[in-house]
Amino acid sequence: MSKLTHNEIAKKMELFKTFDEAGSGHIFWEPNGFIVFDSLRKYIQNLHEKRDYKLVKTPIIYKSGLWKTSGHYEKYKENMYFLKVDNEEYGIKPMNCPAHILLYKSKFRTFSELPLKLFEFGYVHRHELSGVLNGLLRVRSFTQDDSHIFCTSSQIKLVVSEVLQLINETFDDFGLYERKYYLSTMPEKHIGEKKIWDRAIDMLRGALEENDIVYEVKEGEGAFYGPKIDVEVRDSIGRRWQLGTIQLDFNLPERFNLTYIDEKGKKQRPILIHRAILGSLERFIGVLLEHTQGWLPLFLLPIQLRVVPLTDDQLLYSKEIYEEIKRRYPKARIELYKPPSNLSKVVKESIEKRVPLLIIGRKEVERGSVTFRFHKNQKEFQKLEFIEYFVKEASYSE
Ligand SMILES: [Zn+2]
Repeated sequence: MSKLTHNEIAKKMELFKTFDEAGSGHIFWEPNGFIVFDSLRKYIQNLHEKRDYKLVKTPIIYKSGLWKTSGHYEKYKENMYFLKVDNEEYGIKPMNCPAHILLYKSKFRTFSELPLKLFEFGYVHRHELSGVLNGLLRVRSFTQDDSHIFCTSSQIKLVVSEVLQLINETFDDFGLYERKYYLSTMPEKHIGEKKIWDRAIDMLRGALEENDIVYEVKEGEGAFYGPKIDVEVRDSIGRRWQLGTIQLDFNLPERFNLTYIDEKGKKQRPILIHRAILGSLERFIGVLLEHTQGWLPLFLLPIQLRVVPLTDDQLLYSKEIYEEIKRRYPKARIELYKPPSNLSKVVKESIEKRVPLLIIGRKEVERGSVTFRFHKNQKEFQKLEFIEYFVKEASYSE
């Protein structure tokens, strides 16, 4: 059977819209889509809170002077949106780095605070050409799971290793097991000296090798401010997507004159690591929709379960299951149906909208069991065993 695009799946599931009136490339999440987006956000937030990341939130618009200091004005201007207010030029952020740097600089810092891991669901705008826009996969505004880690040079290997492990754990959770790692080196358009670049590349290499990760080198494909490790995943139809990234940066700490006081009371320059796991939440949802054909993990599905008794005789038993799930997990997105006059219509519509089913017949009531249908998979569980399984999976992002 041919695979559907994420745009086709999203239409069936009523996930998002784009409007010409708002400008193309900007996503309007519908109620179902927002459930997917927000559940993914919660899942990512939990992962980071468990690992001592500090969550922050920063503005969208900044004076152009900041973009001049960061180098974006010189190297990234064609991808940015600008506006004039009170005769002063402002730029809309295409990245969160300068904002996190301002927070770092706002305080006197000592070695005991490092590594300092600032994390933000950063909402950024980038002006992509209209010809390349495609649903969630290529957009002009999106939400990054973005972190900037300020650390000492001796902490680099440990910090990068930890991020590599977080990337692996996250993609395992979504069944994206096939991954490729790339180490990208100095591009033609860059800031900073070659000596600094060489040192940064050596450290990334060291972290990869310490984790027994096989990688390829991409010569000249680093960011303009530093070398990076990119993680590419392969989806169910064999396409490759560049998602996670870890970028070392010796240059921005220099440009913004960032410092900390070391153990001996001496002023030192911290190292900045830019990193994202999914990259863009919007794009990741697009990839995941195509990878799973809409059969997302239960915790992301807009409707997590439809309980359908075949006749009135199974109504009470069905209601017990529904109520027990709601009792254990009040936010469960489940529906209890009345016995349908046309079962095949309910089944067809549920599959179309990617809703898992629990069809309760006489056999199930007699055996004290349920038959759970998730896409093409069908499995019989004991009633309590299913309730436990379902609540665990459905509340995974809580
Ligand atoms: Zn950054």
